Amino acid sequence: MRTRSAAEAKSLPPIETLSQRQQRGMDCVHCGITLTPATALDLGPRKIKRLDYTTRWYPRACTSHGKGQS
Ligand SMILES: [Zn+2]
Repeated sequence: MRTRSAAEAKSLPPIETLSQRQQRGMDCVHCGITLTPATALDLGPRKIKRLDYTTRWYPRACTSHGKGQS
C-alpha cells in the first residue's frame, strides 16, 4: 500500500479501484455519485506512487462523504 502519510491516505479507497471519473474528481471517490460545483468537496491533492514515479491526484467527495470522517 501507499506509505506517504497515514493521515492523508486514511478514508480514501485505493486509487486503483476507482473509475477514471473518480480519479479526476468528477465523481465522489467513496460512492461514485456525480459531483456538481455545489456538492463537490475538495479533499486536497494526494500523492500516489505509480510504478516508478510519483504523481498526484485531486480526489473529491460528495457532501456526505467529504466531511465528518472518523
Ligand atoms: Zn459520496
